[in-house]
Amino acid sequence: MYHQVAQRTNRGRRRRHNEDALGAWTPRAAAERTRSGVLYVIADGVGGAAAGELASRCAVDWTIEEYGAAGDRAGGPGERLAAAVEAANRRLCQANRDHPERREMGTTLVAAAIVGDELHVANVGDSRAYRVRGGAAELLTQDHTVTAGMVRRGELEPGAAARHPLRSQLTRCLGLEPEVKVDLDYQRLLPGDVVVLCSDGLTRHVTDEEIAQAVGAHKARAAARALVRLANRRGGEDNVSVTIVQVCSATR
Ligand code: CA
Repeated sequence: MYHQVAQRTNRGRRRRHNEDALGAWTPRAAAERTRSGVLYVIADGVGGAAAGELASRCAVDWTIEEYGAAGDRAGGPGERLAAAVEAANRRLCQANRDHPERREMGTTLVAAAIVGDELHVANVGDSRAYRVRGGAAELLTQDHTVTAGMVRRGELEPGAAARHPLRSQLTRCLGLEPEVKVDLDYQRLLPGDVVVLCSDGLTRHVTDEEIAQAVGAHKARAAARALVRLANRRGGEDNVSVTIVQVCSATR
């Protein structure tokens, strides 16, 4: 299987900075590609301006670096991906400790490693991963926010969460504690599936159905552009980032 990939990030219409960061890693060596696949990462920095920008950029780069360097490490891609995110978290915490004069930096992070037909997703925070199949978007991640926790416990109606004052309040992120729980998900991919990663700047304005429609109607690059445009047309309250990976059957 090969992939059509598009990655797009945009400042949105209200923020002065873009605190989201995107990254991708494709090993050069065929043996390494077979073993580790390809990796896509989105992070959404918190802490404001420079701290948020630095946190998300470092988290993306360090996760890629740690995953790529994990060649000798035992375990499957999912375990190695979780270990890479944990290592990136420790490095962020260390950077915070080394620079107490700076604002403490934190970030969300969602990462997808695609190894053949295996999809491994790691998540901390409220960025998301979806698998779109047969015109429907299936959410593969859980938001680590105060309101998502309330919805899961039945204390808040799902519809009310979007307007709740604590909707962006994270219960888990990278950079604050040296130990972080990384959620992992595993799926088998079929030709025609589309993997979507995004920051909350997209899902604040755009529904799961609209994400499925966009990737159904367009190729990866046009779909990414259409989704960012839709978020901005609806207010663009936050930075918006999206990665779209279309899984194609034939080999090139
Ligand atoms: Ca955000």
